[in-house]
Amino acid sequence: MNIPLIEIKKDKCNVCYACVRSCPVNAIQVKQNQDFPEINTDWCIGCGGCLNVCSPKAIVYRDSKETVKEILKSSAKVAAIVGPSISGEFDDITDYRKFVQMIRHLGFDYVNEVSFGVDIISQEYKKLFDDFKGKHYITSICPPIVSLIEKFHPELIDNLAPLSSPMIATAKVVHKIYGEDTKVIFIGPCIAAKNDIKNNKEWSEVDEVLTFVELRQLFEEFNIKENNLEFSDFDSPLGYKGSLFPISNGILQAADIDESLLTGKVTTAEGKSNILAAVGQFEQSIDYIKQNFNLFYCEGCLMGPGTSRGGKKFIRRTLVTEYANKRLCDFDLEDWKKNIKAFDAFDHTRGFQVNDQRLPEPTEDEIQEVLKVIGKADYDDNVGCEACGYKSCRDFAYSVSKGLAKPDMCITFSLKNKQEYIKALKKSNDDLAKIQNQLKQSEKIARNEQTKAKEASETITAMMQKLNAGVLIVDENLKIVQSNEGFINILGDEAREINEIIPGLVGADLKTLLPVQFYKMFSYVLTNNDDVLNRDVHFGEGLLNVSIFTIRKDKVVGAIVRDMFSPEVRSEEVINRVNDVIDENLSLVQQIGFILGEGAAKTEKMLNSIIESYKTKKK
Ligand code: SF4
Ligand code: SF4
Repeated sequence: MNIPLIEIKKDKCNVCYACVRSCPVNAIQVKQNQDFPEINTDWCIGCGGCLNVCSPKAIVYRDSKETVKEILKSSAKVAAIVGPSISGEFDDITDYRKFVQMIRHLGFDYVNEVSFGVDIISQEYKKLFDDFKGKHYITSICPPIVSLIEKFHPELIDNLAPLSSPMIATAKVVHKIYGEDTKVIFIGPCIAAKNDIKNNKEWSEVDEVLTFVELRQLFEEFNIKENNLEFSDFDSPLGYKGSLFPISNGILQAADIDESLLTGKVTTAEGKSNILAAVGQFEQSIDYIKQNFNLFYCEGCLMGPGTSRGGKKFIRRTLVTEYANKRLCDFDLEDWKKNIKAFDAFDHTRGFQVNDQRLPEPTEDEIQEVLKVIGKADYDDNVGCEACGYKSCRDFAYSVSKGLAKPDMCITFSLKNKQEYIKALKKSNDDLAKIQNQLKQSEKIARNEQTKAKEASETITAMMQKLNAGVLIVDENLKIVQSNEGFINILGDEAREINEIIPGLVGADLKTLLPVQFYKMFSYVLTNNDDVLNRDVHFGEGLLNVSIFTIRKDKVVGAIVRDMFSPEVRSEEVINRVNDVIDENLSLVQQIGFILGEGAAKTEKMLNSIIESYKTKKK
């Protein structure tokens, strides 16, 4: 698996965007619909600047300790090649010979100084600068500088000094002395070197890179302390002035390259902002500047991202110079010269690869559109509060239009949005409170109505029970909704037993309780909403009088069932039916009387007219 060099642990990130602000190439991006920043590994130049600004330590670099432990466990001979800035890092170790011994105790067979490689490469630089052929160079010692040019200033690739790094020069020396199969671990302050040894074939001389911080962790893990160890010096060949390399112009002093402001041909710059300015101005105006540039991304290798956090630059610088002085006191210059000569024939050239990561430039309209969105259209867009991570509102708008940032990162835009959001939230809270009140009111009304409905239902049920006639209410599925005792008595013993368990036979299917002609009548009334009244139906050996009527159209029907053989119903029915017969006869008699009365009048009228006409004829 390809583990990225730098990673952001989301569970630790507090979304402060300090890393976004610190990244020189905008490799840390906050995409739309995301809060957490992400690292675009193709853009990252491995400067490690983001590590030091992340207070919750959410940004980590690839750990190499496990790989190193595996290598140390193997049967291969292993050499540690140690960057000269180790003297600035281990201010807590009294004598450099102690940390050499501590490294040996980890299992390394050889411990060599990279400052010897600095001595070799600085000579190469001297030759390159002295042999001026009209072209100016940028030193290629610092991995992030090389990466910056390969990815974001590819036009300058031919101006990178085509020389190997001191680390690779030292690894070649080690391989020459101890054999090609010797494993080589570089111990230094740089994290970008971890990627370089993986990505560049020329760098395969080094098997793994361990930072000073990782070295400290290994000492702790294996409980290696200086107080119970004897001195041990670095293995030969020893470095000379190369031990000044951690100070940015140390490489120049190592080879006595002229640094004079009047006659020198090299300008040294270090630190993020100086580097970005230097590379930009080299690109635009090198024909005017006419200098080689010696560039270090960090403030010298003293302050590299692989050193312990919180180190003080000038104290480290003093430690480095004190160490160099101590080493030079009884330095065997003749032996050193002999060693330099012995490795003189090595090829120290290297090449570079264009890896252009630049995005197409946004148009002015696109930038203006973003400025409008964030409410900065009428502002001086060349300044800004920098809270978003960009130097000016324009730079920020430029990145938003490239898709590298999102408007919410602008603090004023997001505050304005938040205020509007709070206002909207307050309004919706008020509305919600009103709705809640209304709901409470309607709930109260509903509860009252429910109580009333319950009371009414209880009253009706009680009234139903008082009636002699059977009363029955069924739903659209012909299931009983309610029935009274009169109905249950009509049905007989079985129904009475069911009633004991399910009072009122609620839910019982009508089909199972009554013969089919009843069922059909109920269906008819439900389907047609047409009442069936006073229908006599045989039920077993008895006779029932049934009236079925709609209570709720298509939904609920009611029925009154009377047992015609019960004594109360019989006498009542006989009286009703005798009354009906009397009423019917009376009406018939009335009709007959009327017809007879009318007929007599007509006959009288007719007789009178005959007599009248007869009288007339006689005359
Ligand atoms: S610096 Fe970056 S990674 Fe660290 S907490 Fe802030 S946003 Fe997260
Ligand atoms: S290491 Fe440097 S280039 Fe890479 S993300 Fe961090 S700040 Fe950006």
